[in-house]
Amino acid sequence: MGLVVQKYGGTSVANVDLIKNVARRIIRTKEKGNQVVAVVSAMGDTTDELVQLTRQITPRPDPREMDLLLSTGEIISCTLLSMALKAAGHEAVSLSGAQAGIQTDAAHTDARIVAMNPGRIWRELQEGRIVVVAGFQGVTESMDVTTLGRGGSDTTAVALAAALCADLCERYTDVDGVYTADPRICPDARKLKDISFEEMMELAVQGAKIMHPRAVEMGALHHIPIIVASSFNDAPGTLIHDEVTMELRSKLRGISHDTDVAKITVVGVPDKPGIAAGIFEPLAQKRVSVDTIVQNTGVHKLTDLTFTVARKDLEKAMEVIKPVVKSIGARECVADSTLGKVSIVGTGMQTAPGYAAKMFRTLSDKGINIELITTSEIRITCIISEKQVAEAVQALHQAFHLERVA
Ligand code: ASP
Ligand code: MG
Repeated sequence: MGLVVQKYGGTSVANVDLIKNVARRIIRTKEKGNQVVAVVSAMGDTTDELVQLTRQITPRPDPREMDLLLSTGEIISCTLLSMALKAAGHEAVSLSGAQAGIQTDAAHTDARIVAMNPGRIWRELQEGRIVVVAGFQGVTESMDVTTLGRGGSDTTAVALAAALCADLCERYTDVDGVYTADPRICPDARKLKDISFEEMMELAVQGAKIMHPRAVEMGALHHIPIIVASSFNDAPGTLIHDEVTMELRSKLRGISHDTDVAKITVVGVPDKPGIAAGIFEPLAQKRVSVDTIVQNTGVHKLTDLTFTVARKDLEKAMEVIKPVVKSIGARECVADSTLGKVSIVGTGMQTAPGYAAKMFRTLSDKGINIELITTSEIRITCIISEKQVAEAVQALHQAFHLERVA
């Protein structure tokens, strides 16, 4: 008998029939002799609809009110699911994030979990109940409801799995696993049997929308194996875990892409100590998350500094940067919001030369211009025009033969 945390995404609970389907799946797991904690997202597009409502009232809703509002989406799905379980003859209880003991900092709309107090969950499990927790939310020390950032229910699930020392975290949506590339734009994409936390982290951060990067990071930190599978069928999913089998396999695991990249270049920056800090500190204070940063070597004591942000943050970033540009004596700052990125990821690349060259050649053969390049030990990312992202993914998938099982 084990303790399993199952997380069901918005598409898996989008209507009442689907909620009943999820209830049946949970009951099946329970009847195998497991204790089950289920975490749910809001039904379908509920969260987007709630955001839309606020836009009709004000362009800048108060973050505290926003969080209390958004948290209701998950309250709806978790209570309905608990009712479906009870209607099917099983003992269940729904808990909000606060009731589940998820304590966060006060960074409304993007809060971090600071403590887990799962006492209530333990008591309910001991009573033989299935516990259904509202994902994506927590509560501050002063009892204000917070949310964990869009897609944050994944983080709730993995945090609970860690706090409860669960044997497994199963994460269900309408996608049945992790693929070598997004199957919607790359028909040859192949489902992976397993992938390491490290590789999954790079894929997620670089835009693969499979799992919230913070959830993957937490899984890695606490060694919680995560299965990504579909709630619509019983196909085996992909296991994200510490180590991938040592057998011979492709050195590349997958390609991720993102069509949401904006670039800011500060031109004519004086090349002296403290300037980069002077630019990035104010951005951090405004919680603008900066992705790629490239600074050229200075010529004639001047340099250019380029960085990328998500498009939604471009306006805010420019507001922050403009006065800074003046104060540090840089010439100007220019923005481009029509970019995307494509990354190849695989731990095998560390020890094998030639991957970068092959990537660049493949893109150039397609007439794709590379704007910026960044790498980690197991990843190479090229920033390119948004319009060419799909073509780039397809070409790279083919060039590296990712359709073949290694
Ligand atoms: N409902 C929230 C969202 O749509 C959280 C989640 O789905 O994980 O972002
Ligand atoms: Mg959602």
